[in-house]
Amino acid sequence: MSTHHRLIENARLFPAVDESVVEDAAVWIEGDTVRFAGKRSGLPALPPDCERINASGKFLMPGMTETHAHLSFADASPFAIGDTSVEEATITAVRNAALMVDAGFTSAISFGSTYRIDVALREAINTGRIKGPRLLAAGRDLGATGSNIDSPGGLGMIADGPWAVRKAVREQRKMRVDVVKIFIDGEAINSQCPPGELSFTDEEVNAVVDEAHRRQMRVACHARSAAAVKQAVRAGVDFIGHANYLDDEAIDLLAARKDRIVVGPAIAWEVTYLEKCGTLGISRETVCEQGYEREIQATIATVKKLRAVGIRMVVGGDYGISIAPHGTYAKDLEYFVDLFGMSGAEALLCATRNGGQAFDPAGRIGTLVAGAYADLLLVSGDPCKDVRVLQDHQNLRVMKGGIWQ
Ligand SMILES: [Zn+2]
Repeated sequence: MSTHHRLIENARLFPAVDESVVEDAAVWIEGDTVRFAGKRSGLPALPPDCERINASGKFLMPGMTETHAHLSFADASPFAIGDTSVEEATITAVRNAALMVDAGFTSAISFGSTYRIDVALREAINTGRIKGPRLLAAGRDLGATGSNIDSPGGLGMIADGPWAVRKAVREQRKMRVDVVKIFIDGEAINSQCPPGELSFTDEEVNAVVDEAHRRQMRVACHARSAAAVKQAVRAGVDFIGHANYLDDEAIDLLAARKDRIVVGPAIAWEVTYLEKCGTLGISRETVCEQGYEREIQATIATVKKLRAVGIRMVVGGDYGISIAPHGTYAKDLEYFVDLFGMSGAEALLCATRNGGQAFDPAGRIGTLVAGAYADLLLVSGDPCKDVRVLQDHQNLRVMKGGIWQ
């Protein structure tokens, strides 16, 4: 790997350090690493054996990061996520991992796995046995008795009390998990734990985060309400999922820690549940009564405030259910533009730079600059003008770690 040199030239380059596009650009790759990315006129002398790839007419951007991935979900009904057997879920997870790369997502932060499928996937991907994104693997969702995740099936892990949750986190460490996913509050469809009802005490969440951070793991959470987000942020949770109903105090808390925390609204669930509830045998009136239309409106207001104080927003969320199936992850950028009012370039930055920073604080993911991993997309079309071009896999040629996928 270390001696193969390639030059991708004549492309329009989106390095994803800011919203700018570089015309007549060149990217020099050595092995799995970018050596130069920028205006072609700035290229240093290349080795004579450098392979040249003409990308004329293409838009060249970093591979995207899906920051709320559920590779082990099998596109089942959202009411039956954990119901698949480990065998079935594993087979579809292998397929989903390849699909995620085909969709332009070269890295993924897991927000919960059935069984221990993520860990097995990560090992198979990293040893080249299967195709898939760089993966921060999660274990089973960790929650308290009566929490949103306290239901039968392969998805949950239940623990109560600070020592029991510490033991659960230690068990996840033993399974070689990277991310501990916890449920702080719940879900409107779940009468045993709606949003705003905290299923853990502060003491329990603090214990989870303390234990995870001491054991080289990070913590992702499901937190919809202001109270849930405050509990998570105060405890030091790394990845906040949902954050729909925030008050000013929650925004201020996040703002004070914006260099460490990212927020992913994961709005695909609400949007597609409203759109496709009929396929689940549920009327739109019922979905509105459950509060999901209001939840979208609340999220729009919250995201506006989060952007105003410079919180890094990230793309992804809950794809892998029947109404939001695997492979459609890039729909998120469309929601960021249409619902949250972002420009195409800002949505791209959420999917690339911000997600990459969340995945790898060392900075080798999510931008195309010297020293970054050669994870990139050659796109037919201009996603700055229309992010929907990313939704058609036929428009993408994907490289991960210097290897065409
Ligand atoms: Zn999720």
